[in-house]
Amino acid sequence: MSLSEVNRRRTFAVISHPDAGKTTLTEKLLLFSGAIHIAGAVKGRKSKRFATSDWMEIEKQRGISVASSVMQFEYGDAVVNLLDTPGHQDFSEDTYRVLTAVDAAVMVIDGANGVEAQTLKLLEVCRRQRTPIITFINKLDRDVRPPLELLSEVEDHLGVAAIPFSWPIGTGKDFRGVYDLQRSQIRAFRAGEAVRPDDSVTLQGLDDPRAVEQFGETWLRAKDEIELVAGATPTLDRELFLAGKQSPVLFGSAINNFGIREILDALVDLAPPPKVREAVQRPVDPAEARFTGMVFKVQANMDQQHRDRVAFVRVCSGKFDRGMALTVTRTGKKIKTSNVVSFLSQRREITEEAYPGDIIGIPNHGTLCLGDTLTEGEMLEFSGLPFFSPEIFQTVEALDPMRAKQLSEALRHLSEEGAIQVFRPMRGGPTLLGAVGALQFEVVSHRLAGEYRVEVRFSPSRYRLSRWVSSTDATAMKRFIEFNAGRMAYDAAEQMTLLAAHPSEIAALKETYPAIVFSEMRELS
Ligand code: GDP
Repeated sequence: MSLSEVNRRRTFAVISHPDAGKTTLTEKLLLFSGAIHIAGAVKGRKSKRFATSDWMEIEKQRGISVASSVMQFEYGDAVVNLLDTPGHQDFSEDTYRVLTAVDAAVMVIDGANGVEAQTLKLLEVCRRQRTPIITFINKLDRDVRPPLELLSEVEDHLGVAAIPFSWPIGTGKDFRGVYDLQRSQIRAFRAGEAVRPDDSVTLQGLDDPRAVEQFGETWLRAKDEIELVAGATPTLDRELFLAGKQSPVLFGSAINNFGIREILDALVDLAPPPKVREAVQRPVDPAEARFTGMVFKVQANMDQQHRDRVAFVRVCSGKFDRGMALTVTRTGKKIKTSNVVSFLSQRREITEEAYPGDIIGIPNHGTLCLGDTLTEGEMLEFSGLPFFSPEIFQTVEALDPMRAKQLSEALRHLSEEGAIQVFRPMRGGPTLLGAVGALQFEVVSHRLAGEYRVEVRFSPSRYRLSRWVSSTDATAMKRFIEFNAGRMAYDAAEQMTLLAAHPSEIAALKETYPAIVFSEMRELS
């Protein structure tokens, strides 16, 4: 397997709080790389601004999201895989899982709003995985917060050292451009979407007299700041960046095509190629000859009659050749890979070959589940795909009791896709569904009726929280379960889960049962 194919791959996701500019930036990245030629091509995703009850919009989003979920393009010598993440926070669980399939992330921050709630949660996931992050502070053409304040907010909230790679010259109506601290040059800003990538004006150094002539006071103020910042911040230490401890920060305006090329350059120059991944059995090196891959996302297809789904597989090692036989470790079954798709420039195409870092889509009728590992035969299981403890619970029952069996079958499918979490109370009674966001219930109810012909009734549950419980002390675990049997349930993977109505219940149990571990997150392994 050619090492250079591994080394030229960059696989990343753009993360942000809704409205910070993720969609705009994604489109511009594709535009700059030449993958698309017209602005506006990444469309439809605006549909995330749906009203809470509008499942039609959710359907629309599902339809387009297979095609746009992975975008592959070349930039210079690099092959870049950009993985889309759902915009709506009710589907943030999917985002967390997508983040397990990337090697780096670009975090977009709205310069007027600073670090927002959703960004914090996403960052937590990145931190756990030590994903290197490139920070892009967007909307400099608006009245944004002072750059120094934004930097210290990034540092305080995200726990990373922010290393400015550029510095804004004015903001809002006064925005004149940025000073590139890496290349010691000014790049002048011109508003408008028509600005071509290669069409920027640059001035060299801090002392070019034309800077004062052109930008006046705004430049002088910026120059003071730049001198201060350049003196006070260390240069980027690549090791610390790769460990997720330092983040290069770029300022720009996505809608005005400003600052985009710098992000692409930073991705190619700084972000890592695919690295060693931990399987339960042993670490797997991307340069190994034999293929391995992990399913990090399962997407139901549009065709409701067929219930087929596409499993998104991140190639972790070896080379994928179309038609090769792959084994699913969980079941030991072999699958055919003749109609596997890739995502070149947004078109779904039949894949001939793929390398570590690439994503392939495998259409199937339920043979592949979230978290599955695919190999050429070796028993390997990649770990680390996260499930978060739900925050909303409802019981579910089929309106027609004769359809109960179909309901449980359907729920198994949906939980395998990660659409919802399913809990079976230990003492019997109606199945509980758990979601991180309320919209998940709407999608599930709609899909149960549409795809599985099961009409259901949801009823509110008194539970508000759950924790996966485990212990190295089998006796303590047994005792704990016996005493709490009334609020214990099995999740879809038969893991023991405690249900609670209030955080204080969990706090009390923690005190009473010190040998029990209560986890908010379950890693599939
Ligand atoms: P997302 O929710 O993070 O995907 O954000 P969008 O890309 O949809 O952007 C949200 C809004 O911000 C849209 O109205 C964009 O046109 C706008 N926007 C994005 N980038 C910029 C920018 O650089 N400057 C300004 N003024 N608006 C921007």
